[in-house]
Amino acid sequence: MAYCASRFQTVRRRTVEVLVGSVGVGASNPIRIQSMTTSDTQDVAATVRQSIALAEVGCEIVRITAPNVAAAKCLREIRARLSAAGFGGVPLVADIHFLPSAAMEAVEHVEKVRVNPGNYADKKRFAVREYTDADYAGELQRLHDTFSPLVKRCRQLGRALRIGTNHGSLSDRIMNRYGDTPLGMVESALEFLRICEANDFRQIILSMKASNPKVMIEAYRLLVERMQAEDMHYPLHLGVTEAGDGEDGRIKGAIGIGSLLLDGLGDTIRVSLTEDSVYEIPVARALAQKAMSLWSAGPAGPAAAEAPDAIDPFRYSRRETARLELAPGCATGPENPPRVIVRAGPEDFAGPDRGLRDPKLEGTPAEGVLLAVPDAAGLAAAWTLAAGPAAPPFVVLELAGDLAPADVAAPARPEPRSGVVLLRRFERGQGEALAAFAGLARRSGWFLACDLTPDAAADLGPLLQRLGDERLIFTCGGVPGDRGSPRHAVGAYRRIAEELRRRGLRAPLWIRNTDATAVQGDNSFLSKLLEASFLTGSLLGDGLGDLVSIETERDAPRSVRLAYNVLQGAGARISKTEFVACPSCGRTLFDLQTTTQRIRAQTGHLKGVKLAIMGCIVNGPGEMADADFGYVGGAPGKINLYVGKQCVQYNLPQAEADARLIALIKEHGRWVDAPATPAAPA
Ligand code: SF4
Repeated sequence: MAYCASRFQTVRRRTVEVLVGSVGVGASNPIRIQSMTTSDTQDVAATVRQSIALAEVGCEIVRITAPNVAAAKCLREIRARLSAAGFGGVPLVADIHFLPSAAMEAVEHVEKVRVNPGNYADKKRFAVREYTDADYAGELQRLHDTFSPLVKRCRQLGRALRIGTNHGSLSDRIMNRYGDTPLGMVESALEFLRICEANDFRQIILSMKASNPKVMIEAYRLLVERMQAEDMHYPLHLGVTEAGDGEDGRIKGAIGIGSLLLDGLGDTIRVSLTEDSVYEIPVARALAQKAMSLWSAGPAGPAAAEAPDAIDPFRYSRRETARLELAPGCATGPENPPRVIVRAGPEDFAGPDRGLRDPKLEGTPAEGVLLAVPDAAGLAAAWTLAAGPAAPPFVVLELAGDLAPADVAAPARPEPRSGVVLLRRFERGQGEALAAFAGLARRSGWFLACDLTPDAAADLGPLLQRLGDERLIFTCGGVPGDRGSPRHAVGAYRRIAEELRRRGLRAPLWIRNTDATAVQGDNSFLSKLLEASFLTGSLLGDGLGDLVSIETERDAPRSVRLAYNVLQGAGARISKTEFVACPSCGRTLFDLQTTTQRIRAQTGHLKGVKLAIMGCIVNGPGEMADADFGYVGGAPGKINLYVGKQCVQYNLPQAEADARLIALIKEHGRWVDAPATPAAPA
């Protein structure tokens, strides 16, 4: 598992430095923030305006699409005007698909060229044919001949190159041999990388983007592992493509980018949002700052000496856990989705229209409620709430350290209608207390959630093994991370999971997000969202996590919504329509932002349906990955509709396209009417 120095602490990967103009990427440079303009590149004034706006909010590298030679020629003027306006230090990147001629023009004017190995030398036909070994070798030679002129020119001019692989646009050659897989993405990049090295060119940055964070995470890890094996140390550009907008877009980006940054991988990042590009920058900066504050602490110990965990980081599989029936119809276990718990207080139960779901949000309600029990008096109040009609299916009682089993089991308590989980912190050496609470849970038909540090888990491990995992749940919410050290809570959960595996325990893991400020002292909602995505998304991507709570957000309905959104972003639980929307660029054929919002307003209630909204088809229908339906720019003002990867309606006038999309969803039996919006409380 040579893709990162440690799975338990955040240690930055060692890379060479690549200079993009005067901006260093990789090595000891800070994580560089970048974005892309969305204007028509040939509208030079608009592109310069957007580039300046990006630079002014902190974008360090600006990418501009060059869809043809005419657009590539405009980069000269754009570069000149930016320099004249005082932004000469902001490097420009030409984004190339399909046309080597556009790349050869662009390289004359900008500091870096991005090529897509899936379509630089290949006309994508979206067909897979058989390649013999001789065919394949012939294709590689053709690739070499087509790509080498650009590589040589980059070397002569001192330009940088990004080999930017996209999951959705792999060449037919790669698809034939490796399929639509992370391995195919990696091989696609390595083909181009070897051509660069054969031309003695090493100013290279690589990316492995996908709209599915799990695919993207696996592809980057695999790429690094393969590069390490070949003693290659090129920097990485991280990004999740087609992440969408709003909270969902930020979550998806943070899960993919954040998980890799916690692994110590990533040197420059772009957060793709279907919003004006300037809104990407604060999100990217917050992600980068969180990671860099961990990196700067340095390893807390000899990472190389740590035993590896048992997870295969290159192939997702969910940890096999015990099925615990927490309440009727609400169980944990591999065949059940992660369950959502909300932290609440008496005020959240007040009034007939309150409860733990915002009536305006139509959200899925929480399944468990976490109530603090500071003392015996608080216990009576918690029992009352747990027995009330507003309580979710199960209740978690967070017990203060001095409450004994006898206090909790007091006969005066009313019989709650919900399942009961006792949550208590256990330290090293507290085996007796743990055994007593486990006994109470067994006698009462309750469950016991043990909040442990990894060290306490190791200390209490033999006892845990004797108790078995029939009624136990594990968490380490009380220890979100050691401030000022490279240890993030992700590492703590991984260590606990590993300890359980070693002892043969299948008890579920509860991911508690308890501290959004662990890294940078920022208590904003964005920080909570990013931290929840980092922690929960990373662990879910490792197949860990059976229960989730976002306790950093004190507004209960918002916390529930955030939990479901993070689960959806991680692909762990689908609770609403999934949107895959590209961020738009100079190739976009319609207004993506308003179109996405309009379509979302009409279809956002279709739980389990995946809709792709793409500005153009440059990256192929594969970019829509596993979307059920696609709404794709076919020509200016014209829309093509897809069912899966199949285009079924061409060149529809945009004014008709929404209705035709809905008709298509109905034809395929995926439509349900939206529920009536509940009246907001007076
Ligand atoms: S899919 Fe969207 S972001 Fe990608 S090239 Fe087309 S318009 Fe640009």
